[in-house]
Amino acid sequence: MPLLNTLSSKEAMNLEHNYGAHNYHPLPVVLNRGEGVYVWDIEGKKYYDFLSAYSSVNQGHCHTAIVGAMKRQAETLTLTSRAFYNDQLGPYEQYITQYFGFDKVLPMNTGAEAVETAIKITRRWAYKIKGIPENKAKIIVCENNFHGRTTTIISFSNDPTAKKHFGPYTDGFIKIPYDDTNALQKVLETHNDIAGFLVEPIQGEAGVYVPSEDYLKTAKALCEEHNVLFVADEVQTGIARTGRLLASCGNCSCANKDCSDTPDVKPDVLILGKALSGGVYPVSAVLANDAVMNVITPGSHGSTFGGNPVAAAVAIAALEVIKDEQLTENAEQLGQLFRAQLNEYIKDSTIVKLVRGKGLLNAIVINDSEESDTAWNICLKLRDNGLLAKPTHGNIIRFAPPLVMTEDQLLDCVAIIIKTLKAFEV
Ligand SMILES: *Cc1c(COP(=O)(O)O)cnc(C)c1O
Repeated sequence: MPLLNTLSSKEAMNLEHNYGAHNYHPLPVVLNRGEGVYVWDIEGKKYYDFLSAYSSVNQGHCHTAIVGAMKRQAETLTLTSRAFYNDQLGPYEQYITQYFGFDKVLPMNTGAEAVETAIKITRRWAYKIKGIPENKAKIIVCENNFHGRTTTIISFSNDPTAKKHFGPYTDGFIKIPYDDTNALQKVLETHNDIAGFLVEPIQGEAGVYVPSEDYLKTAKALCEEHNVLFVADEVQTGIARTGRLLASCGNCSCANKDCSDTPDVKPDVLILGKALSGGVYPVSAVLANDAVMNVITPGSHGSTFGGNPVAAAVAIAALEVIKDEQLTENAEQLGQLFRAQLNEYIKDSTIVKLVRGKGLLNAIVINDSEESDTAWNICLKLRDNGLLAKPTHGNIIRFAPPLVMTEDQLLDCVAIIIKTLKAFEV
């Protein structure tokens, strides 16, 4: 067996291939160190990380404040389960609910678990508060959604790769086109058994689809009119990524109830994950006000690791970094600059059709078919040029660097991206 510290990239990839299930198709690069906006491979080559673990590492790799909080707590108390109280959870619950302006939080670990939790809360609310007959509650979801990988969640996916041969599926979901308030209105007007509308403020995995300006506001108003919960999955868009603390928050840069700007859209149920821990530890959360969250009673839901002391300490540190380093504002400014620079290039490009996104959640659409491998080949070349990104679909490349990037670094990255794209122009 090779010694771990002398492993080559080739050997590391072979080990994953031989001993790990093949549920991913990674870009061939083996990383062993990260700091801020950079990661390094085994051979010592340095890269800009332009994926940030799908927007988990918003605060940058190995942020000293977040890692420090984790180390301190890991040496003190790591896990009690919720059979007992612990001294970290209460202060964290107070901190996060005040931070986002909700009465209560339910702590979980992964994004998919938080989505599952939100679905359960929404269904319970439908039976206990709205009065929908037992087992009849429906949740409206959108086409091309991505909400995670559990059996229930893939039941309402329309991605055959994620869904096929995993049935039987969970009932109770109605799918409508994304960014279509007429379709939403129609379902709401023709059904009296709707519990909630589950939506991503920007569809990340689908290829960074930004809906039209008033979509969320109109959708929220329709939900209110029909006494239906508006459930926002901000696992990828939340925590400053889109130049706002929350993407559902419209033009306001924060959803804090003490904030002087009133948020455009305040979800009834807010789902967070990924960057809630700065990418150092799995932490997710569902937030709601008492009128909704109080449907959850002792024993009705839980998780052994959910709300553990390490997660609580890490999440507070991760949220503090967002405010202390003004990452929301930085994401907004650098996002504008990024799209302006790329749009300038795209004017005369035959290989790139467009750039879209908000803040530092962006994507370019390659002028080729969904089935082509052009986007993959561009990502290989970007890697060679020192920048790591990944296609979301055959012809879309997502660009989501850590939000701690400086303007100089961003311009350096734009230069790498344009140089790489130029090599593919015909
Ligand atoms: C990543 C993601 C999830 C799932 O999170 P996991 O931690 O991978 O389970 C859910 N919703 C959205 C919008 C996501 O981007």
